[in-house]
Amino acid sequence: MQEFDYIITGAGSAGACLASRLTEDPDVSVCLLEAGPRDDRAAIHTPAMIVDAIYSEDLNWHYDTVPQKELNNRELYWPRGKTLGGSSSINAMVYIRGGHVDYEAWKALGAEGFGWNDVLPYFRKSEDQQSIQDQFHGHGGPLCVSDLRYINPLSEAFVRAGVERGLKKNNDFNGSNRLGVGPYQVTQRDGKRCSAAAGYLSPDVQERPNLTVMVETLATKVLMDGTRASGVRVKHKGNEHDITARREVLVTGGAINSPQILMLSGIGPAEHLRDMGISVAVDLPGVGENLQDHLDTGVAFTGKTTRAYSYNIRSLPKQMAEAVRYLFTRKGMLTSNAAETGGFASTRGEGEPDIQFHFVPAIVAPKDEPRSKIYGITLHSYVLYPDSRGTIRLASTNPEDHPLIDPQYLSKGHDLQTQIDGAKMALDILQAPAFDDERKDLHAPQNMPKNDAEWETFVREKAETLFHPIGTCKMGAKKDPMAVVDPHCRVYGATGLRVIDASVMPRLVGGNTNAPTIMIAEKIADLLKAGG
Ligand SMILES: Cc1cc2nc3c(=O)[nH]c(=O)nc-3n(C[C@H](O)[C@H](O)[C@H](O)COP(=O)(O)OP(=O)(O)OC[C@H]3O[C@@H](n4cnc5c(N)ncnc54)[C@H](O)[C@@H]3O)c2cc1C
Repeated sequence: MQEFDYIITGAGSAGACLASRLTEDPDVSVCLLEAGPRDDRAAIHTPAMIVDAIYSEDLNWHYDTVPQKELNNRELYWPRGKTLGGSSSINAMVYIRGGHVDYEAWKALGAEGFGWNDVLPYFRKSEDQQSIQDQFHGHGGPLCVSDLRYINPLSEAFVRAGVERGLKKNNDFNGSNRLGVGPYQVTQRDGKRCSAAAGYLSPDVQERPNLTVMVETLATKVLMDGTRASGVRVKHKGNEHDITARREVLVTGGAINSPQILMLSGIGPAEHLRDMGISVAVDLPGVGENLQDHLDTGVAFTGKTTRAYSYNIRSLPKQMAEAVRYLFTRKGMLTSNAAETGGFASTRGEGEPDIQFHFVPAIVAPKDEPRSKIYGITLHSYVLYPDSRGTIRLASTNPEDHPLIDPQYLSKGHDLQTQIDGAKMALDILQAPAFDDERKDLHAPQNMPKNDAEWETFVREKAETLFHPIGTCKMGAKKDPMAVVDPHCRVYGATGLRVIDASVMPRLVGGNTNAPTIMIAEKIADLLKAGG
């Protein structure tokens, strides 16, 4: 029987940070479990190989949603990272924290201690900002945040196009205000991806005698002694064994796997657990509820030139030259994260933004043909604060089976109209003079929509995830019956058990979700070290 002070069930954005911070104290022992393999592939570390990472066979959980009623019953592909670094090892590296208002909203929803002034020190603590010096940014932290080393001229044209359409230029979306268009900063160090593993689990950290990292090891269940978490059952190479946690089990599997393992352990909505034949340890109706995600619509034109990124054979000589350049200098096109520029806007024309743009100098093809050979430009837009809420439910009691993922996209409120308005705004920007020498034919939608009904048809046929699921073990006040964890991430009704990852966010931040997840882990690591 192995025993550790803490067992962490997943080495993703949150788990890697926690393992690193907790083992700074040599008297604390930690076992970090990761279902996937080590993060030793070039596809992870070379930024431009992001398509290979997203579609890789074994670095990825390869989830699909259940058929989405409001999206013509399509099942959407949901990649999630399955390796050291988790989704931060396959993501697009865009470094965004969201708006200051987002954290005030969390606080109002019961996440006491997560207001903007509370969380800013933890964003700063995690960060090693390479270019900006001001009160918003940190230096010397594990997560390296850089300007892109290479920006495609078409990405620069996007910024000019946005300004031509009345948006202001913004050089730092993580400063005082998100509104406007500009270059994205990326989680990269010296031209290589800085995943949570690259940042927090350096060889030095992994060699600490008080840290045991077990890869290709699936946590199948939290062992419950009544309502106390006493350890974790794991499966490695077909064999199961139990590991004991002297202090606590920290569940860090992300927004899909964390509610799954809680439910497999008897923690969740009692009725669903009984239907699945699982005996109830803690009746927590909020587990697997409150699923939120950013739904994305890409408007695209084919290009007149070959400046865009493409898998077309005509680009091969350039790609080979760039590969050599990258090998020797860590510079050039291979450092691109594809989504090099973007921005935030309000479809209402005023106030806080309600949509975000990611400009990609390429035609991004769907799941079945990700390596597009067409040259072109795509402007992605998504609704920052959707009203729709979905669920994660068990499909079976086998921990190796995928759970049922039902985000219920576009099922509520203004989501559809804002999605349409965002796509219309994207089309308008792509039609700006800055793209006159590039824009050829409209590619997506295929025909120019004449009215909102035609835009709606396009959205329902083509919208895809932007990979930001959160909220399925939401943080909240004790009086909220749907809260799963308290503001210290302790699971209500249980002892010795916390959930610490994107699943605890009560509401989507208006932006990408990696930096906020790491911020949460930094904050809870501090609380744990202080005995809280
Ligand atoms: C394709 C893609 C692009 C994205 N682009 C961006 C971006 O550009 N910028 C941004 O900010 N965000 C982006 N995101 C989102 C961001 O990466 C995630 O929100 C963030 O990484 C979530 O962190 P997490 O710790 O909650 O989960 P994860 O990082 O997914 O970590 C969970 C880890 O737990 C492991 N695990 C799960 N269950 C078990 C188990 N039972 N036993 C053992 N191990 C287990 C998993 O294998 C994984 O390693 C993107 C995500 C994806 C998938």
